[in-house]
Amino acid sequence: MPIYEYHCQECGKEFEKRMSFAQSDEIPVCPFCESEKTNKKLSLFCAPGVSGGNGGGCASCAGGSCSTCGG
Ligand SMILES: [Zn+2]
Repeated sequence: MPIYEYHCQECGKEFEKRMSFAQSDEIPVCPFCESEKTNKKLSLFCAPGVSGGNGGGCASCAGGSCSTCGG
């Protein structure tokens, strides 16, 4: 499940949230101040160490160099 990183415009804090693809368009509220003014920063699509061991499990690189997962 992808992890999305958000930045809160209200309090300036950042937080991560795991969401399914179906939820990925939803705007989460800030866990610190409960503001809805949150920006999605970037998707940490592949966390290190989660790959299946078959050349990395990152759908955005599919082999070769990938700045997202470093693979
Ligand atoms: Zn906030």
